[in-house]
Amino acid sequence: DPRIEGIASTIRVVPDFPKPGIMFQDITTLLLDPKAFKNTVDLFVERYTGKDITVVAGIEARGFIFGPPIALAIGAKFVPLRKPRKLPGEVISEEYVLEYGTDCLQMHIGAVQPGDRALVVDDLIATGGTLCAAIKLLERAGAEVVECACVIELPELKAFYLHFSSAKCEVLDWD
Ligand code: IMP
Repeated sequence: DPRIEGIASTIRVVPDFPKPGIMFQDITTLLLDPKAFKNTVDLFVERYTGKDITVVAGIEARGFIFGPPIALAIGAKFVPLRKPRKLPGEVISEEYVLEYGTDCLQMHIGAVQPGDRALVVDDLIATGGTLCAAIKLLERAGAEVVECACVIELPELKAFYLHFSSAKCEVLDWD
């Protein structure tokens, strides 16, 4: 899709952020370009319209930028998956392993119901650990995860969209 190259060209790479040796993929420059931002949302909306998705789950924090416009356009509810101690209600938690240490995602109990069909949205996939934790949270609540959608794929740095099949956690290329 010719839109993907335009989107990729707006993503800034910041060396040594937040630590030396890390090439940080910065989507805030994509957001400064209304055409690129709209094309990004449109590509996802085109893919997920008509798939009976009832919930878009966005991962803190950049999944909160791309998830809500997709949810509104496809007529799904939006559920934030947050870092610990941010949600005020009763939560379920899923810990996951990082390169150094662990992290955790939480979701409000009752936000997702058995029978919900979920799309998980984040800005970037590296190891896939964060998305796997999100999938587990949603499945524990009884939802079926239809796909995960990210704007950027590491380590290839291809800056195109890809998606996960929840059953196999297999990375599928966008075609
Ligand atoms: P994973 O769990 O290893 O797949 O890492 C993905 C998570 O780390 C996502 O929530 C991303 O937002 C975040 N992340 C890792 N590297 C970057 C980056 O270069 N730019 C923006 N987010 C990143």
